[in-house]
Amino acid sequence: MERLRALLKQINGRGYKAYKQLAGCYRFNGYDLAIDHVQGDPFAQPSRISIRVSPAYLCLPAEYYKSKIRKTATEDFLARAVNRAIAEHVKGHRGIGKSGEFRIETSGQQILVRNALLIDGEAVEARLTAGLPAAGRTILSRDAEEMFFTELPAVVAQALCFEHLDKKLLQHHVESSEDQDYLRTQLHKHKLVAFVADHSLLPRESGIDDHPLGGEAIRFMTPESLACTLTLPNRGAVRGMGIPQGVTLIVGGGFHGKSTLLHALERGIYNHIPGDGRELVATDASAVKVRAEDNRAVSHIDISPFIDRLPFDRDTRSFCSENASGSTSQAANIMEAVADDCTLLLIDEDTSATNFMIRDERMQQLVARDKEPITPFLHRVRQLFDELGISTVIVMGGSGDYFEVSDTVIMMDSYKPVDVTRKAHALVGHGKPARTPVDDLPAMVKKKVPSPVRERLNPARGRKQVSIEARGIDTLLYGRYEIDLAKVEQLIDIGQTRAIGLMIHYYATHYADKSDDLGTSLKLVLKDVEDKGLDILSPWKTGTLALPRLHEVAAAINRIRE
Ligand code: ADP
Ligand code: MG
Repeated sequence: MERLRALLKQINGRGYKAYKQLAGCYRFNGYDLAIDHVQGDPFAQPSRISIRVSPAYLCLPAEYYKSKIRKTATEDFLARAVNRAIAEHVKGHRGIGKSGEFRIETSGQQILVRNALLIDGEAVEARLTAGLPAAGRTILSRDAEEMFFTELPAVVAQALCFEHLDKKLLQHHVESSEDQDYLRTQLHKHKLVAFVADHSLLPRESGIDDHPLGGEAIRFMTPESLACTLTLPNRGAVRGMGIPQGVTLIVGGGFHGKSTLLHALERGIYNHIPGDGRELVATDASAVKVRAEDNRAVSHIDISPFIDRLPFDRDTRSFCSENASGSTSQAANIMEAVADDCTLLLIDEDTSATNFMIRDERMQQLVARDKEPITPFLHRVRQLFDELGISTVIVMGGSGDYFEVSDTVIMMDSYKPVDVTRKAHALVGHGKPARTPVDDLPAMVKKKVPSPVRERLNPARGRKQVSIEARGIDTLLYGRYEIDLAKVEQLIDIGQTRAIGLMIHYYATHYADKSDDLGTSLKLVLKDVEDKGLDILSPWKTGTLALPRLHEVAAAINRIRE
């Protein structure tokens, strides 16, 4: 520690490059500070540092990391604590560029597996970035000294010492996370695909603000006929709405909360922080939101169950397109989800292609079936469940055609769910179980997505051997490709986008030749990362990654545009 102080004194007032000498490890009271990478100039990516807090200083009881889920929750809690402590103790911007700032990456309303802060044995390692301060290109040692000798120790003392943490909050964070996880694992046993607890708060501040809607928000209340009670390890019994396996419709007038419910189900694959309102909304972990995505690139996907007999005999068994239409893109999205072993599809009419979803009786009379390439989803949704075990939840306020194929119909009425299954089925006029309107369709089969050849996943660009960068959550630059992920709606964090880029590279170098289907190889990649941690993806230490699901990794590969 005194060595660092001496070094700083030595380089004061010198050119920025002299900061390079700081790289190394320094012992502080209770922790080791490693300066892992020093930035080249004040405007470059800030320097990367890591703080390893000793077990004797941290004193974190083992119950907080004894299982994977508890460990992830505690890591999330501690990273947020560091973030808050930075806001409190760090003066921040001083000098030019990013001078004087400390930062740690944290998640939003969800609790994700990240590598910004890791519990490693009984120690904790936090990875931060530090903007080493300069005026122009001149080193400001006095400010750097303040950062490392006053501010950082205060941050560590407040956030990474068990004694100073709010133990009640930490315990609640961990137990709540454990309950959510457990809830998700219980769905299958109860033949459910999702569960929304009473009193959940689903609406958000806005489409771009994931915080709970303040003010007049109406809390969720389960209709008696769909109520079930599950017992969680920490919280005990919770009552809520169980959405059964099969085909479920969410109907209701405009602005009554249909999309809000579906959106909560989309996010129910993640655990949420206490206070979010969706802590007890759990969805089948493999659930995929599928939508129309015109202009997306599609390569070698069999969309023939939905689209066949295109004009000029274009093959749809191995369909390729540089810019797919609304219906072909939605078909490709579904077939890819099916290939990824998804067991729940989530669909909103707001973001679907109408001609893909329905074709009403009159239109069927006017346009003969053999002149229409599209087999609407309406005709396939039952088969997906009956033959492949894939359930669907559809928001459908605009067409009653789906009553016939549904098992459950939930009406949203002024944000309150009402079970209208019987009523809807009575309208169709059959007391029989749901059935497909046409009965001569060939069976649905699950077809693998072929592995792209290794050369296709070359990460080189220009003179760089490996060029991978996330430019926002939605845009991944991989080699010479720009992959558009804007419509992959369950991708929620730029850390996931970064990890996806590195996982594609990892896949290309380790597994691309091991199997001819993408899903099988990606499962191996995911398993490596889950077993050994996100760090295996990067040649140097970073704290900026978050774990995506297999589906989102596959989604990126499937969207590569030649
Ligand atoms: P729909 O899909 O049925 O047209 P939305 O789900 O888009 O309706 O909801 C319409 C509006 O109502 C949105 O602005 C949403 O934030 C708000 N909203 C949804 N659920 C609630 C609720 N429980 N309490 C208060 N406002 C809500
Ligand atoms: Mg809507």
